[in-house]
Amino acid sequence: MAKRDFYEILGVAKNASDDEIKKAYRKLAMKYHPDRNPDSKGAEEKFKEAKEAYEMLSEPSKREAYDRYGHAGVDPNMGGGGGFGGAAGAGGFADAFGDIFGDIFGGGGRRGGGGPQVYRGADLRYNLEISLEQAAHGFDTTIRVPSWDSCDTCHGSGAKPGTQPVTCTTCGGHGQVRMQQGFFSIQQTCSKCHGTGKITPTPCPTCGGAGRIKRNKTLEVKIPAGIDDGMRIRSSGNGEPGMNGGPSGDLYVEIRIKPHPVFQRDGDDLHCEMPISFAKAALGGEIEVPTLNGKASFTIPEGTQSGKTFRLRSKGVKGVRSGYAGDMFCHVVVETPVKLTERQKDLLRELEASTMEGGAKHSPQAKSWKEKVKEFFE
Ligand SMILES: [Zn+2]
Ligand SMILES: [Zn+2]
Repeated sequence: MAKRDFYEILGVAKNASDDEIKKAYRKLAMKYHPDRNPDSKGAEEKFKEAKEAYEMLSEPSKREAYDRYGHAGVDPNMGGGGGFGGAAGAGGFADAFGDIFGDIFGGGGRRGGGGPQVYRGADLRYNLEISLEQAAHGFDTTIRVPSWDSCDTCHGSGAKPGTQPVTCTTCGGHGQVRMQQGFFSIQQTCSKCHGTGKITPTPCPTCGGAGRIKRNKTLEVKIPAGIDDGMRIRSSGNGEPGMNGGPSGDLYVEIRIKPHPVFQRDGDDLHCEMPISFAKAALGGEIEVPTLNGKASFTIPEGTQSGKTFRLRSKGVKGVRSGYAGDMFCHVVVETPVKLTERQKDLLRELEASTMEGGAKHSPQAKSWKEKVKEFFE
């Protein structure tokens, strides 16, 4: 089934502000929230749809990818590839949900019958700063990320060895308590046992009662060639661990590309400034420029002016999604010579006198400018 347009789902214009998007989502989420429509499958679908649309449009990098590439830009199941299940993958919906409703619905907990509440672990984000060359060519790297192991002292129970966790009296072991707030009936995580349904009267001295210990682990990450600033690579299950048997969250490696001394990147295109001498600009000739894959050369014509742009096809970055190389744009900056010797100045004076004799034909821009100025004063 074709996916609906995210803007259409939220009923906002393509140029809607972040605030408008948030408001539109909030309205829909209130209307279709599963807690208010317990038996409606249709409402649940609508709620999920709105949640996804909001999640995509509320984050600038995802919204940009969506505006440029449509669903293929943000859906990990379409296109992409490389790394851990696609660049710019969709994040945990619990994030977007928790962002707005965390205050009234008690976080992104999963609803379940009876026993203690099961939580999916939080997603983690890791910012990875790389060079433009690394982004263009792709590379493998390792990162250190937090991980959690079951505590050796208490074997995960959180209770001091020799003592036992006991059922929480506040929630009766359910992990959550019901509260009435306006016309909502709200299930809230029990603040005494934090949703586990159990409390440890004598916490384990090693882990402080958490039952697990934070360690670091090394993770290999494959950066696909052509990745761009703001794209994310998902490493499934490497986020924070879940609670009460819930699944782990995901780890997102978010790419930041360092500024480059020569090139500016725009999508898959590259731009660079190319200072050339006044004489070279006037006479024309061969110019050598750097590219991400060695040097390239091309010929500029006689009388090249400052500001002129030369396009070198396919010398840009090969796009991670398109698979096609962008172009490189060289912007000419004619450099006025400085620190001249008397001899060099004499040569220029001679040149100036000679071109003055030739009149306007040597400097058409100056001629047309003078004419405009003249018209302006008359
Ligand atoms: Zn312990
Ligand atoms: Zn409790």
